[in-house]
Amino acid sequence: MRSRWSDDEAGKLSGLDLLVYASRLIGAETSLVVWGGGNTSIKVSEQDHRGRVIPVLRVKGSGSDLKSVQKKDFPGVRMDDILALLDREDMPDEEMVAYLAHALQDVGGPRPSIETLLHGFLPAEAVIHTHADAIVSLTNNDRARAVISGVYGRRVLPLAYRRPGFRISKDVAETLRDHPDATALILEQHGTICWGKTVRDAYEATIALITAAEEAIAKRRKGRRVFGRPCVLARAPADRRRVAIAIAPRLRGLLGRCVLSLDGSDDVLEFVSSAAAEELSQIGPATPDHTIYSKRLPCFVPADRADDPDRLLPVIASAVERFVRDYTAYFTAHAPPGLALTDPMPRVVLIPGLGMFTAGKDKRTAGIIEDIYRHTIAVLGNASAFGRYVSLSAQDAFDVEYWPLELYKLTLSPPEKELARRVALVTGGASGIGRAAAARLAREGAHVVIGDLDEAGARKVADEIAAAQGAGRAIGVGMDVSSEASVVAAFEAGVLAYGGLDILVSNAGIAHAAPVDRMELADWERSFAVNATGHFLVGRAALKGFKAQGRGGVMVFVATKNVMSPGKDFAAYSASKAAEAQLAKVLALEGGPVGVRSNIVNPDAVFRDSKLWSDEVRRERAAAQGISVAELEDFYRKRNVLGAPILPEDVAEAILFLASDRSSKTTGCTITVDGGIRDAFPR
Ligand code: ZN
Repeated sequence: MRSRWSDDEAGKLSGLDLLVYASRLIGAETSLVVWGGGNTSIKVSEQDHRGRVIPVLRVKGSGSDLKSVQKKDFPGVRMDDILALLDREDMPDEEMVAYLAHALQDVGGPRPSIETLLHGFLPAEAVIHTHADAIVSLTNNDRARAVISGVYGRRVLPLAYRRPGFRISKDVAETLRDHPDATALILEQHGTICWGKTVRDAYEATIALITAAEEAIAKRRKGRRVFGRPCVLARAPADRRRVAIAIAPRLRGLLGRCVLSLDGSDDVLEFVSSAAAEELSQIGPATPDHTIYSKRLPCFVPADRADDPDRLLPVIASAVERFVRDYTAYFTAHAPPGLALTDPMPRVVLIPGLGMFTAGKDKRTAGIIEDIYRHTIAVLGNASAFGRYVSLSAQDAFDVEYWPLELYKLTLSPPEKELARRVALVTGGASGIGRAAAARLAREGAHVVIGDLDEAGARKVADEIAAAQGAGRAIGVGMDVSSEASVVAAFEAGVLAYGGLDILVSNAGIAHAAPVDRMELADWERSFAVNATGHFLVGRAALKGFKAQGRGGVMVFVATKNVMSPGKDFAAYSASKAAEAQLAKVLALEGGPVGVRSNIVNPDAVFRDSKLWSDEVRRERAAAQGISVAELEDFYRKRNVLGAPILPEDVAEAILFLASDRSSKTTGCTITVDGGIRDAFPR
């Protein structure tokens, strides 16, 4: 591993600023720490609340991530209070946390790392603790001690696994007291502790330790096929894509509300398809804190081929069922009294010949779990090169997975929103009502697929949503709702991105104005292709997807006031939108028995950001009403009983209501968003 230290950047820094710099260098190497793992510290002199200069430990706070850590993420803990604990034999977690809360320099700051004492008990000024893949590769095998002394000699000391907390910190202190010439410590099945007089010394010591491990691994792996021969043939990428699209919604249906991510990269495929994968994947995690995201074990699907979804699906279903049974038994065997099992579902599903699905509450979390298991695969391979892979005991893994101090980190994230874990597809989403609806659903937690003829526009809206709600929360796709192939492709893009669908907002539409006796057949047919057939194609695709998932679904059809109260010279629009409304009601009838709701929103005269109100349509509608184009918006505003202009955001509120569980008993219904038009009152 190459040192990333730069004198140009570090030269100007000192104290905590320098530690922040080094911490980010560590965080930038995902093979050292992933997603909140690892921590760093420095011992400094500071003034306390009474103005006395005292020794203070600045240590990473719980819940922050090294790669993006900031100065404010390092709470100060008074060293006198830490060192006073060296006399203790043991200390329960809750007491340790409460004690450290009293030893803080800054009131109301972040909680210090659960590994704070481990840093504080070490005499060195700067300390870095990682969960390096290369190190756990040396320790997670049945020859660990021999491997470690072979690589490092006698001055790097291994410590037997012990859960993070007071006792391991005390072990570290006592080991160093007995071996003052030690240069680093290796916590078996956990990670590294390196230190130095300066932050740079501690950083370089870490890099040197890892580099030696990497070299030993490379030597050991050379020419070896650690996972054995491939058992299941991985087909061509297009074939795997076809199978993934067929099974993802079913898998999502089995796992419950979640967002799926699929990793079919070469190294993942090599592992999941290998002879060793089934046994090796069921031994345990690479390092304890992975269990919080990925659980102790993945769900392995013992499929002998992966080219036929119909053959694969029952094997997946029984593997998930077995996982739930085994996980429940693991929980029951190790849980303390009073702790309830809330989620027995797998987070990682390995399918030979296909790849790895990961399931999270959102795309980001599914990605984190994917990252973690990719590192696990690397460790499984490297550790197996030295001997038989070993991991934490089930009890040790459970103690970390359900450790209140680790679960605390998860409580730092905000509560889940109303549409969290759900996926919506919005047609005509690049502008007007569609764009407002996509943004509104995303704001309530949904992941959104934005389809539009204007592909660049759809992507732009997706980027806006990602900027506001977080990366990965939306995708934009080119979509012509009047083309069967295009509709199928858009739904497939949604399945590949998120695993399935929960909400359809069928909104794309066009307007054509002309009196019947002067209307071209092509214009009539074009109106029906988009405003009627388009809704049929997306409604059909959604219903099929909902049925595959087996967890119900919601459809919202954006129609128009003209369905109830047609307009003169507006036959193609009014008639085709009436067909849409009838379709929506039939879908309510057909979808009801499988928990699928279908409802209609009738807006009127939504001008802002609208592509429907083209200059031509404005001109023709103004002529039909006998007014000038300039008077048009005002004319429409005044004709509703509230005298209100109708905005895209107004329609988006009605769509949100119909898309959410707040309308869970409503189907086949029409909600007007038109300011109140007497002739268009639903009846
Ligand atoms: Zn750790």
